[in-house]
This record gives sequence, C-alpha cells and structure tokens, in this order.
Amino acid sequence: MKKYDVIVIGSGSGGIILDQAYRAGFKVAYVDRGPLGGTCLNVGCIPSKMLIYPADRVVEIQEAHKLGINAEIKAIDFKAIMARMRQPIDESLAHMRAGLQHAQNLDFYEAEGQFISNYTMEVAGEEIRGEKIFIVAGARPYIPPIKGLDKVNYLTNETLLEITELPKSVIIIGGGYIAAEYSHFLAAMGSKVTILQQGPHLVPQNEPEISTTLQNALSKRMRVFTNTTAIEAKQTTSGDIVIGEHDESGEQSEFKGERILVATGRQSNADVLNVKKTGVKTDERGFIEINDYLETSKKNIWALGDVTGRYMFKHVANREAQLAWNNAVGEHKQKMEYHAVPYAVFSYPQIAGVGLTAAEAVKDHEILLGTAKYSDVAKGEAMVEEDGFAKAIIDKNTYKILGFHIIGPYAAMLIQEVVDIMAIGGNMWTLAQGMHIHPALTELIVSALGNLYDPSHVHQNHAQ
Ligand SMILES: Cc1cc2nc3c(=O)[nH]c(=O)nc-3n(C[C@H](O)[C@H](O)[C@H](O)COP(=O)(O)OP(=O)(O)OC[C@H]3O[C@@H](n4cnc5c(N)ncnc54)[C@H](O)[C@@H]3O)c2cc1C
Repeated sequence: MKKYDVIVIGSGSGGIILDQAYRAGFKVAYVDRGPLGGTCLNVGCIPSKMLIYPADRVVEIQEAHKLGINAEIKAIDFKAIMARMRQPIDESLAHMRAGLQHAQNLDFYEAEGQFISNYTMEVAGEEIRGEKIFIVAGARPYIPPIKGLDKVNYLTNETLLEITELPKSVIIIGGGYIAAEYSHFLAAMGSKVTILQQGPHLVPQNEPEISTTLQNALSKRMRVFTNTTAIEAKQTTSGDIVIGEHDESGEQSEFKGERILVATGRQSNADVLNVKKTGVKTDERGFIEINDYLETSKKNIWALGDVTGRYMFKHVANREAQLAWNNAVGEHKQKMEYHAVPYAVFSYPQIAGVGLTAAEAVKDHEILLGTAKYSDVAKGEAMVEEDGFAKAIIDKNTYKILGFHIIGPYAAMLIQEVVDIMAIGGNMWTLAQGMHIHPALTELIVSALGNLYDPSHVHQNHAQ
C-alpha cells in the first residue's frame, strides 16, 4: 500500500488544494478519472459560455429592429461555433497536463477510485492511504426514471458538446438553469426548442416574477410548457417522442423532436466513490454531509464543491477549496460564509442575484422590498429594455441587504457591487455612498433601493 500525506480526489476545484499541498512540500496523490480539470472546464461553465456568447449576438441582431436597425443573419456556422468552444478547453488541458508531468513528490492517478476502508482507496490497481483526504469529486447529470428514456439516445449537458450538426428540433426535459441556458443557445442557432418543466416555474429557485419574465421572453422564441412532467420517452425512425403529463389536469400530450436533452438536475458522485467505506456520511439525496468548516463526519476528511450539493457554482467550490485547505493545515479554523453567494443564469435575458429571495427573507426578518425597471434609468431606456428589472430585499430594521436579484442585460456584472457590499457586511447606505455613473446601467441598483416599500402594508391594504 502506498501512503500519502494528502489525497485529493477530483481535479476541478480540487486542483486548488493540490497546488497548495504540493507547494507546501507534502507527498500528494491526485485522483481523477477524467476529463482532467473537472466539470466547469470540460462540460460546464466554460463550454456553455463559449456557446452562449454567439447566441447572445444572434438575438441582439434579431432584436435590432427595436433600435431602428434593419439587420439580417445570413448564415450561422454551427460547426465553427462548436469548434471554437473546444479551443480554450484543449489549451487549458494541455497546460495542466504539462504541469503534472513535471511535478515531483506527486502521483497522478488518472482513473476511477473508490474507498475500500478507513482512509484507504483503490485506484488504478493500487491501494493508497492518506493522512488527510479532500473529496472534491463533483456531480454528474441526474437522469430521472422516465419510462423508456434508457432506450433513447438522449443528450445531456456533456454529450451536447460533442454534436457537430444542429438538431432541427430539441425537446428539453427540465427547466432549471441548464435548460434556460441551452434552450437559448439552441434556439439562437436555429433549432426548434420545446421545454417541458415540472411545476409552475422555470428556474424555480429564483423570485417568481423573475421566472415569469424569463418564461415570457423564452416563449417568444420557443415552446415552453410548465406544469408538465415528462413521463415517457420513445425513439422512433422519424425522431424522439416525449409524453408529458399536465401536473394538475393529468392530461397527456405528445411532443416530438429530433433529439431530447435531459436537464433535470445534478447527482453527487459520492456513490461512485463509496465514501461510506471510510465512514463519510451522505444525506438522503446522496450528497456528502459537511459542517461549516467543510469537515465530513470522519476526522481528517474534508469535502467541498458539488459533491456536497451546497451552492453548486464554480466560484463557491473555489472559495471552499481555499478554506478547506486552510482549515486542514492552519492554526485557526474558519467557517465558510454563504450569506453573499452570487449566482447567474446566462440565458437571454440574463439573470443574476445574491442572498435570499423575498420568500426566504421573510421567515426571519421584517423586510422592505424595492424594484426598478431597466427602463426607469436612462441607459435602460436607451437600450429599449422593456422587461428587465431589479429587486432589492432589505432588512427593515438594519437596512442590511438580504438579497438582490436582477433579470436583464449584464445582470451578472451589475450584481457584483451588491455582492461586494454584502460580503463586507455593509448595508444599503454603504452602497449608496458611492456615486453611480450617469447614465450607466448601475443606476438600476440605486433606483431599486430608492423605491423601497413595506410589503406587509401592501398586503394589509389589499386585505381591506
Ligand atoms: C452545464 C453547466 C454549466 C455551468 N455553468 C456554470 C457557471 O456559469 N458558473 C458557475 O459558477 N458554475 C457553473 N456550473 C457549475 C460548476 O461547473 C460546478 O459547480 C463546479 O465545476 C464544481 O466543481 P467541483 O470541483 O466540485 O467538481 P468537478 O469540477 O465536477 O470535479 C470533480 C472531478 O472528480 C472526478 N471524479 C468523480 N468521481 C471520481 C472517482 N470515483 N474517481 C476519480 N475521479 C472522480 C470527476 O471526473 C471530476 O473531474 C455549471 C455546471 C454545468 C453542468
């Protein structure tokens, strides 16, 4: 059996821990079944955003008539767009591989591993044991138990990246952020898209009015069926079929498309690793249980990133990786702070936010709400942005920002100043202290804060 000071499982955000452990002179085992670099680089953030950037340009051109510009797209080179997407991935992979080849005191196991006993794994025919172990094994697409689906050659966010011909039509099962982003991409490329979403809302973790605005916008470019659960799938010689059942009426409808894209959430890789063999507990959904110090139920084993199911974003996994390492080797342990976690959905319109939704905030706080439309500020008006808006959720007693959510152009950039203020514990007055450039879209943030009202009064008035 080979013994190591540190075992790092997973080369996504696990790479940050590897880097720290290696620089500190520890003997390290690095385990990843591939592709090297993990989800974000290979099948997540990077490829999806490489594809969405041209999709955004397409829709802007299609909507240019709002500005008095008569523009027409003559052709879209789908093959070239897919090839461009792979370029930065290939470059990063080559760079990472070169770094690993020259490293001393480090064994890279490029194979699937699993725990066989306490602190001990089996990987690539070897047994390896670690003093400190970091489980950063990520998640994979969750495939729901839909009748017949296993016999259909469906796409996931992973296999979609391998296609070189645009399917004429795609049925997307699911309505979360992956569906919102890829439906935008596929529709912009010219595919006829149908979304089937269980429950009343697309991107259901968001403010309901943001989900509705997204649904209205996407519905102009594709068919969106909410409250529709896919119950059966079939592959025929003339395409794929999904049977959808209406959540309330139970009525069934048949949807036909050239391909099916399954985008129904993510599932932890903890099961493949057999973490129970080393005494690491998982929750009822199979995600690894951790405390705020990112410690698992087993001493000297930490877990972080998607494998834990907490805030499944790359920026969160990266921050957790840094903290887990500091907690493992530093003198003072620190808790991971989640009150100002930003998120974005790179659909069209774009969505971004931070902190609590109004429904979450009202459980523990008296709140004020403030909204402003893009068209309320000069730049938004210049852009003829009619539907986008921002929503602020403020603690009524302390004026702390509890949550802030935006739908519309550049939402992911606009939210950053709110994230920064929340991260340093400032309140809305801290944010308002800085002058905001006129006429820039950042005035939207100040405008939402300038429109605060007490929602409990609104309800009372309605009740009277
Ligand atoms: C389509 C899509 C788009 C996304 N877009 C964004 C975005 O725009 N912004 C954002 O912040 N986040 C985005 N995410 C989420 C982001 O990709 C993840 O939160 C992040 O990559 C998680 O990193 P991780 O290190 O926890 O796991 P991963 O990067 O998944 O790394 C885990 C690694 O462990 C390896 N592994 C697993 N089990 C084993 C085993 N038994 N043996 C050996 N190796 C194993 C895997 O092969 C993998 O390489 C997106 C995700 C998807 C799917």
